[in-house]
Amino acid sequence: MPTNGLITPRLAEEMIGSRLQLRPIESLPLTECVGGTLREDISAERDQPPFDRVAMDGIAGDSDTWRRGQRRLKLQGIHAAGAPQVTLARKNYAIEVMTGAILPVGCDCVVPVEQIDIDDGYATLRPSAVLTPFHNVHRRASDARQGSLLLTCGAPLRAPEIAIAASAGKANLRVSRQPEVAVVSTGDELVEPGQPIADFQVRRSNAYAIVASLLQRGFRRVTDCHIRDDESELTQRLALLLHTHDILILSGGVSMGRRDFVPQVLKQLGVQEVFHRIAQRPGAPMWFGSGPTDQAVFGLPGNPVSTLTCLIRYVMPAIAASMGMTGDVSERVALATPVTVDSPRAYFLPVCVEHDESGRPSAIPRPTHGSGDLLSLAGTDGFVELPPGPNTYPQGFISTGYRW
Ligand code: AMP
Ligand code: MG
Repeated sequence: MPTNGLITPRLAEEMIGSRLQLRPIESLPLTECVGGTLREDISAERDQPPFDRVAMDGIAGDSDTWRRGQRRLKLQGIHAAGAPQVTLARKNYAIEVMTGAILPVGCDCVVPVEQIDIDDGYATLRPSAVLTPFHNVHRRASDARQGSLLLTCGAPLRAPEIAIAASAGKANLRVSRQPEVAVVSTGDELVEPGQPIADFQVRRSNAYAIVASLLQRGFRRVTDCHIRDDESELTQRLALLLHTHDILILSGGVSMGRRDFVPQVLKQLGVQEVFHRIAQRPGAPMWFGSGPTDQAVFGLPGNPVSTLTCLIRYVMPAIAASMGMTGDVSERVALATPVTVDSPRAYFLPVCVEHDESGRPSAIPRPTHGSGDLLSLAGTDGFVELPPGPNTYPQGFISTGYRW
């Protein structure tokens, strides 16, 4: 529902979500899939493990014979991982086996090297040895049967999922094609780090934050540029970027100033305004539009805390959803101390998430000196979204948290 003529964060989120299309699919080699989103189901290539797998370095033999009292065993030979299956020649023999080897025929138990004494071609079981069937054997299909579902469409591909896909024999995976993202900072006052700077100028930091956040989330097709507050330059360069990119993330130039040309230039370029301004603090001037070929165009306010907050609250979840990613982008977290919100707008409060004595996470407020105070964000974990005030939210109040 609109609040004081402005839309709520929830409505803004929904309006963005309804405009972003699911990304197309591409097939990539496994090593290039990390950080991506799986767009197919992955099933077990074979039983997992595919054979009764020796789980310890030691000796394998017949546990029934051992339990009947045979503790001194003639060593028949050595059987390593990767070797085809061998057969125990006699029940009172044992075979030296290595972790990962297929359990020999006639053997049903492995006793680790620490529980045997070897001398003169014989192994003697120590009293501590456990002699139950299939002890130290990772049994065939005990983890998964051939054909059973291991990973589902939408899974984020991190180290375990990549390893699981590899274990299923997949050299390539169908994943969401990465979007081409243009990060654009606007402002005559902005100067690149490393360049000389005058008193009246400001370091161009927002673009670095946005690019960092994208890279951190596995989005690698990112270009970064800076455009002056000049209407014709802005028009020319944004026109070009709209041709070459799926997503534009701009910072600055969306407020009420005479040099805030971004909304009007975008509209002239055929980008349809979906909303301008949200009932929130910081970041009220946020703009969002949809380009002629469905490009998503985010106009984030330039104040650095606003830029980052809007990026994490709206842009990143929208991109994740367009990648087909399942799972939550936010978490529920309790306030560690009471917080007063004095405005009738949703309030984004930077926090550190720490664990209380009982191990429960709680959000310790780290308020800034305003939306220009980037420095207060050092060491914070993210922010919580508090409902519109005026109100005092007590310690333990559960709100939605977003991580940087
Ligand atoms: P604007 O949204 O363009 O009115 O900018 C609001 C404030 O944010 C101004 O003080 C700008 O100098 C500052 N700002 C805008 N863009 C950046 C940027 N990329 N890095 C750091 N500060 C910025
Ligand atoms: Mg500006």
